[in-house]
Amino acid sequence: VKDLEISAQLREVMGAGEVRLYEPLSKHTTLRVGGPARFWVEPETRGGLANVLEFCAVSRLPVLFIGRGSNLLVRDGGIAGVVIHLNRGDFVELKVDGTELHVGAGIRLKQVAAAARNAGIGGLEWMEGIPGNVGGSLRMNAGAMGAETFEQVVSVQVVSSRGEFETLRPSEMQIQYRNAPTLRDRYAVSAVFRGEAASLEAIDLRLAESSHKRKTTQPIAASAGCIFKNPPECPAGKLVEELGLKNRRVGGGRVSEIHGNFIVNDGGARAEEILRLIAEIQLIAKEKRGIELQTEVQIVGVDDE
Ligand SMILES: Cc1cc2nc3c(=O)[nH]c(=O)nc-3n(C[C@H](O)[C@H](O)[C@H](O)COP(=O)(O)OP(=O)(O)OC[C@H]3O[C@@H](n4cnc5c(N)ncnc54)[C@H](O)[C@@H]3O)c2cc1C
Repeated sequence: VKDLEISAQLREVMGAGEVRLYEPLSKHTTLRVGGPARFWVEPETRGGLANVLEFCAVSRLPVLFIGRGSNLLVRDGGIAGVVIHLNRGDFVELKVDGTELHVGAGIRLKQVAAAARNAGIGGLEWMEGIPGNVGGSLRMNAGAMGAETFEQVVSVQVVSSRGEFETLRPSEMQIQYRNAPTLRDRYAVSAVFRGEAASLEAIDLRLAESSHKRKTTQPIAASAGCIFKNPPECPAGKLVEELGLKNRRVGGGRVSEIHGNFIVNDGGARAEEILRLIAEIQLIAKEKRGIELQTEVQIVGVDDE
């Protein structure tokens, strides 16, 4: 009853958009695991988002943003708070201005790459194969083919956990390899990316290169991309392969035979099984090579009771 009441209040403060109770997060993560979100919220406007955040702050409800869920491992007990998903209205706007793209946090990186191509803007081709959206990719400082998100960012509009908006330049933010800590408690709402004028032939060539590389080196099975950050010593995938751990399995979770840094869900895997597999790999890497593997995938939520 309390949850029903809270969801009605969320709907009221938010206005346009959608609120759902106990939404299964296995539906919203590419790894296809994870328990339910107590409250699943899709606001349509900046004002609605600000009101939701303010309500959560006052009501002491924890907040988590989810993009396309392609770098997330949600535990089996789900998320005991409010999960905010930006996928409509103000958050999916995309505008081209010269060699700049103004994009909402809910726009997929694939769409950014396509819009840049159509406008003759080069340099963003690497975004083509990353299955995340702009918000998640800023938070993760995602990258591929020697490029990373923040190299092309002019500015990011963020909203604080109390619902206040602010525009930040990269120089005002803390940005690291596969991590933008500034966006841990200030959430990305939109961004401006800058590329450079390029010919369609050159862009198409780089798009084809990116797509070919992915098709030949990554599994198509359900996964969360790279599980571990690359340690200074060597690429994590190579290490896992050298340790003979490809195809190692715990329940429905298995190290991909195609890429040692991918764990795939062969069907029906539970988060707890994937977590056990991760812990086993970390232990073996430490024991046999003295290397501490850190996870790149974001692990969130609570265990099943
Ligand atoms: C097949 C496959 C291939 C991949 N290849 C690559 C690759 O080449 N390079 C690479 O870097 N990654 C890769 N990834 C990982 C993943 O796609 C990227 O990290 C992506 O940027 C995550 O975006 P997302 O929208 O899915 O974020 P999510 O997984 O939904 O969220 C990731 C993190 O961002 C936070 N977040 C989400 N939205 C916001 C927001 N608006 N503001 C603040 N925080 C937010 C979440 O809370 C979470 O902590 C791959 C994944 C898969 C499944």
